[in-house]
Amino acid sequence: MGAKLVEIKKEKRGKKHVLLLAGSLLLAACFLLGATLLMIDISALLNDPLNQISATAVSAANGNTKSGETGKLGTKPDVQTSTPAVEPLEEAAPVLAINTLPSSSPSSSPSSSLSSASPTPAKSVSQPLKTAALTFDDGPDAKFTPKILEILKKHNVKATFFLVGTQIEKFPEIVKQINDEGHTIGNHSFSHANMNKLDNEQIKTEVDKNDELLKNILGETTSFIRAPYGAAPEYLKQKLQAEGRYLVAWTVDPRDWAGTSSEKIVQTVKDTIKPGGIILLHSFGGRHLDHTVEALPQIIEYLQQNDYSLVTIQQLQEIDEKKS
Ligand SMILES: [Zn+2]
Repeated sequence: MGAKLVEIKKEKRGKKHVLLLAGSLLLAACFLLGATLLMIDISALLNDPLNQISATAVSAANGNTKSGETGKLGTKPDVQTSTPAVEPLEEAAPVLAINTLPSSSPSSSPSSSLSSASPTPAKSVSQPLKTAALTFDDGPDAKFTPKILEILKKHNVKATFFLVGTQIEKFPEIVKQINDEGHTIGNHSFSHANMNKLDNEQIKTEVDKNDELLKNILGETTSFIRAPYGAAPEYLKQKLQAEGRYLVAWTVDPRDWAGTSSEKIVQTVKDTIKPGGIILLHSFGGRHLDHTVEALPQIIEYLQQNDYSLVTIQQLQEIDEKKS
């Protein structure tokens, strides 16, 4: 009996071994299966964050334009940020259309004779001011330009004069006066040519000759160019872009050169001015520019009464740069 018992025990042990073996095999199989599933999960987890990281790196590169790795993506914004000159070229008005002044607003704030107290400094600190730019094309001359300068001085307003080379040659003293009185001077070509009808070499001459004249009188030329008739061929845009200069358009055109009445000139300004607006007027070359001279004080008074700060194109551009 004793031996049988032992044998049975042995048998039982043997069966136990078999059971244990089978069990552990099953466990091992389960473990392997589980492990494989786990591995897949882990690799999936690993892949995901990896993807996310590289994705954020790309978008960060896109946003900041300073990633080295994502060169292709990084170059696009680079091109955009490094070409502030392009946008003013293509759409000067929208780019220069700014309706706020920084708190440290330049002396241009019209703390003029009109606003008796001086509400402008307080305003520029607490709330943004609306800006508008008066521009006068085709001068200088000895008749209308001095009258316009006188009105601007009386109202303590700075404006921008886009000068034509042939007129600069005739009236260098007026060019000096415009500059000395704190206005911005712009290049309006040498001979007021329609540049859409010129070849590249002729376009270059139109711009460069004006530059030379201004340099001779003022010691430097200007960053601002307005194409006669707004005709700006691709070559002109490329040339100005390469030189880091701005092509300036306009947003308000009262057609003062066409003999429009002063009432109509003022009305057009009232009807179409918006913050950041650029008003196109003339100081020479029109049919009845005495209408312009007559309208100018009314335009200034209307704009100031409606909280516009009158700025030069230079100031508009500086404000624009500070904002971006
Ligand atoms: Zn013109």
